[in-house]
Order: sequence, then C-alpha cells, then structure tokens
Amino acid sequence: MRKAALAVLFDFERFFVQSLGENWRSGQKLLADAGVESARLDSRLLLEYVAGCRHADLLMSPEKIMEHSAQQLFEAFLARRASGEPLAYLTGETEFRGRVFQVSPAVLIPRPETEVLIELALERLLRLEAPKVLDLGTGSGIVAISLALECPAAMVAAVDLSKEAISVARNNTGRLGAKINFRQSDWYGNLGGERYDLIVSNPPYVAAGDPHLALNGLPFEPQMALTDGADGLECIRRIVAGAAAHLNPGGWLLFEHGYDQAVASRNLLTEAAFKDAFTHPDLAGIDRVSGAYL
Ligand code: GLN
Repeated sequence: MRKAALAVLFDFERFFVQSLGENWRSGQKLLADAGVESARLDSRLLLEYVAGCRHADLLMSPEKIMEHSAQQLFEAFLARRASGEPLAYLTGETEFRGRVFQVSPAVLIPRPETEVLIELALERLLRLEAPKVLDLGTGSGIVAISLALECPAAMVAAVDLSKEAISVARNNTGRLGAKINFRQSDWYGNLGGERYDLIVSNPPYVAAGDPHLALNGLPFEPQMALTDGADGLECIRRIVAGAAAHLNPGGWLLFEHGYDQAVASRNLLTEAAFKDAFTHPDLAGIDRVSGAYL
C-alpha cells in the first residue's frame, strides 16, 4: 500500500518536473499554438532568462532538471508571451546593433530599421571634428547611445517628454559606458538657444486609428512613442519646423518615418528651406528615413 502510494508520488513528480530540453520543447509548442511566429526562439530565450543559463548550456545539458521556482516563472512568462506581450518586456532587455539595452513598457522596443537612421547619422558625423548631436524623443536611448559610442568625438544630447523613458535611457547609457546629456523636453521646448550640427529623431509617426497599432504587441508599447494621435505627421512637422533655430549653418536633420511618409517628409523639409532633401530605404526596401541640411 505504502509502496503504491510512493510510486504514484514518484510518477507525479516525473510528470511535472521537467528538464531544460523538455521545457524548451513544451514552451515552443505552447507559443506556436498561440500563433507566436518566433516560438522556438522565444521559448529558448525565456528559458535561458528564468534558468539563468546560456544557449550552450541548453544544448550541452538538456537533461538538467529545472528548479521549481524557475519552472513556475517560465510558465507564467509563456502565458504572457502567448497573450501577445513582447518578449523584451518580459526579460527587460533586448539586443540592438550588437549591444544589450534594457527596456520597460515606458519605452518602445528597438526596431532593426532604426539602424538606417544611425548609419546615415554616422556617415555625416564621422566627417566632422567635434560634432554636436541632438536626439529628439530618445526613448530607451538606442540612437543617442549608438552614436555616442560609435563616434566618440561627438557630444551627444538627448531629450524625451517622458521622465520614465529618460531614466531607462540614463541607465542604458551608464551600463554601456556612453556619455550623454539628457533633459526632459517636449521636442525643442527646454533647449533654449542651443544649436547642433545634427538633429536625429525616431518620432511617433503612426496615424491614430491605424490598424497596425492593434497588432504585433504594439498595444503593450507606449502609445505616445508610436502615434501622434493625429495623421502621423504631426510630430514630424514640429521637428522640421523647429530645426532651423537649433542647427548650425550646414547642419543636418535626419528622422525616421512611416512607409508612406517619404514624399510628405521631403516636402516639409524643402518648405522649411532645407536643401537636397532625400529618403533612404530600410533593409526591407521600405522608405524609412528622410533628411536634408540647412
Ligand atoms: N516602426 C514602428 C512600428 O511601426 C513605429 C515606430 C515609431 O512610431 N517611431 O512598429
């Protein structure tokens, strides 16, 4: 009788206590069934995060049994991921341009297309001696920090309307060893008469009511970083209109925008007396960044 009871207990344990490998597989299945496209990768990254291990550990010791608390946390994270919450908000970090940035729901999750903005900015900055750069709406700080680290001669300032975003960006700056002057500001609002050689921005450019806002985890992201609550060009208009008062002669303005905003962006630049307005596509071939100089 006693023996039978123990056997039942034993089986019970065997059923619920899972190894790393089993967890990876069952997590992948749960996420795939919920329609998560990157199910295998996401299951692995969540598993590595809760178990405090690396990819190599999973491959080398898949039979390792997970601690009960890690197992429970993994299941809770899987449920949140299955309901659409972005992976980066669960682990609190994400990689961009080869660096790990901390993120919170106060900031947009870095998008690979923002690398275009950084590349175009670097092309111009690396030609100058001690360029002054301003990043408008810095969020997690990816643009300002990438520029500061990849063009050490640059003096980089960054603003955001959100205090929470600035604290995330400051934290990333310290962790990654960059030096940036942060201020809370509604675009140029608190910048007085400061002038720069380059102004960059990845502003909110999705139009209010765009169905895209309801997809791909966007409802979990800060709406003020995604949409201007108007036609999608409202913040771009403000950024272009205020730029001349904050640029040195010959200074550049570069900003990211939506797939269908290239013509409008170039027109705004030209109307504001900028020269040679151009648009550059992202890796998917979509118009993504426009810019011009004074
Ligand atoms: N590229 C983002 C998206 O469409 C929007 C980013 C932004 O508004 N700055 O998901």
